[in-house]
Amino acid sequence: MHIAILSQKPESYSCTRLIAAGEARGHRVSVINYMQCTMVIAAHRPKLYYQDTVVSDVDAIIPRIAAAHTFYGNAVVRQLEMMGVYSVNGSQAIARSRDKLRSLQILSRKGVGLPVTGFAHAVKDVQALIKDVGGAPLIIKLLEGTQGIGVVLAETQKAAESVIDAFRNLNANILLQEFISEAAGTDLRCFVVGSRVVASMMRQAAPGEFRSNIHRGGSGTKVKLTPEERAIAVSAAKAMGLNVAGVDIIRSNHGALVIEVNSSPGLEGIETATKKDVGGRIIEYIETHAKPPGPRIERRGDDH
Ligand code: ADP
Ligand code: MG
Repeated sequence: MHIAILSQKPESYSCTRLIAAGEARGHRVSVINYMQCTMVIAAHRPKLYYQDTVVSDVDAIIPRIAAAHTFYGNAVVRQLEMMGVYSVNGSQAIARSRDKLRSLQILSRKGVGLPVTGFAHAVKDVQALIKDVGGAPLIIKLLEGTQGIGVVLAETQKAAESVIDAFRNLNANILLQEFISEAAGTDLRCFVVGSRVVASMMRQAAPGEFRSNIHRGGSGTKVKLTPEERAIAVSAAKAMGLNVAGVDIIRSNHGALVIEVNSSPGLEGIETATKKDVGGRIIEYIETHAKPPGPRIERRGDDH
């Protein structure tokens, strides 16, 4: 098969590993920088150029779209889907996962446990909304933040009010969330492929930090999930429609709560912590779900 990774960072650990895992299983793997793709939309013939070449022989893609480029990157994923290329994560599911509010709404409808969360546009009475999510300390999150950036812990009611005011003045969409203090800066990253958790680690925030993101200095160690946590992770990924997902779970006093479902989970942290061949599991999943090979690549100009 010809598998293309949509990524801006061919040299990253995740790309390098996916290339190696694909090649080890006899596939051709290339990296397409989606920001250098051009889409041509015509009736019955959606076309995609990568630099000067018409993309026409890709059988399957692994989208790894940066949060900053969701709009364009996901349009490229959609274009490939229109061309009949199999995407391990669909463009709709990626779009859903990038919006924290939309994700929480979908997960809550499916009965997945979540921290109590509030969202409002015009809040006349900020204090009432703060009370609704359990009062301070509380978490304030930018709707489209990632890697821990845009997640703030407001320790007091006053701090919460001023942070909310500041964000609102910037016209940023935010949600308020109950702070799960008993998690003590830890969460569980559950790497889901298909209907299985293929690897899981506990992430511990750096000293003095409540955000466990590896990008914020957190460290990961292998962890054994309870059967309940496994089931929650798989059903969260399923609810979002993602075949490959990093489901983040917090252990709270009232059970396992999902805080986020990532559509491009990184491989470095999880493979290092667990020594598992996560890349191989993704390639395997594609082998059993993608359609057979298509036609070959043509140069621009050969194609009309
Ligand atoms: P991002 O998309 O930026 O990673 P998250 O919602 O995953 O945003 O939050 C980042 C980190 O902050 C989480 O991994 C977790 O450690 C911590 N965190 C997020 N929400 C809560 C919460 N409600 N209670 C306690 N800690 C939280
Ligand atoms: Mg996160």
